[in-house]
Amino acid sequence: MTAVVDRKSISPLGHTPNQKKTFDRPHPVRLLPGLYQVGGGFYSHSRDACSYLIVNESNGECILIDSGSHSGYEALRANFDMVADIKQLKLVIGTHCHWDHVEAFGHLCHETTAKFALHTLDAEAVRTGDPELTCAGFLYNEPFHPFPVDLELNGGETYEMGDYRLEILHLPGHTPGCIGVKLEFSRTNQVIFIPGDSVQGAFSKRINSSMSTWKRSMRRLMLQKFDFMLPNHLPNGAQTALLSDVDNRLARQYSQLQTNFQSFMDKQWN
Ligand SMILES: [Zn+2]
Ligand SMILES: [Zn+2]
Repeated sequence: MTAVVDRKSISPLGHTPNQKKTFDRPHPVRLLPGLYQVGGGFYSHSRDACSYLIVNESNGECILIDSGSHSGYEALRANFDMVADIKQLKLVIGTHCHWDHVEAFGHLCHETTAKFALHTLDAEAVRTGDPELTCAGFLYNEPFHPFPVDLELNGGETYEMGDYRLEILHLPGHTPGCIGVKLEFSRTNQVIFIPGDSVQGAFSKRINSSMSTWKRSMRRLMLQKFDFMLPNHLPNGAQTALLSDVDNRLARQYSQLQTNFQSFMDKQWN
């Protein structure tokens, strides 16, 4: 197991050679005032999870939710620069420990003083660069360079950023430390849910997935009232969107957890 490191001692991550550029120009998406998608799918790299940036439009301060991996880092940074100043980045919240969601923070931490927050149950995997628990080795065949977790989350934490109030929801199942972010937009009182992989994620014992805790998380989630939900990953070429009809989406996903969804994943992962 790799030793725990502090931020100053780590070197920038290497880019994977010969990877085709998936973007030709920065193209962040403004989903709502102060809410942007800056990574994921063809906005950065097909392997990377979606990254969302919440900006205080009065003073420029911002919070990033998920950073993607080094595959899409160059595009993520270009998109970021279109809407905010990296010096104003205060916090990066990881939705869980997986490579495609957070590994690029190994780059970002050299450019920012922003703190990195992750649920306490997933923190050790990132700190040690565990190739199994971060999916880096067995799923992506990539290294995971470890980096420190500055803030360990437990669920229930709240943050204010511009017109948004963020609340961390602990939603274990996909991994023990999976979180989602509930975003309340004060101008309209709309509530937006950023799920990470807590609703649509792979199931595998190798990443400590648990079907019983996942079902409990989904049942808790279905009691919440969301106006919109945002994608965790984008299929090839798909545009992003604020997804409506959240109650039905959650109910459908819940009903599929143990049927076609799980058996599909069993085939893929075993
Ligand atoms: Zn994941
Ligand atoms: Zn994912």
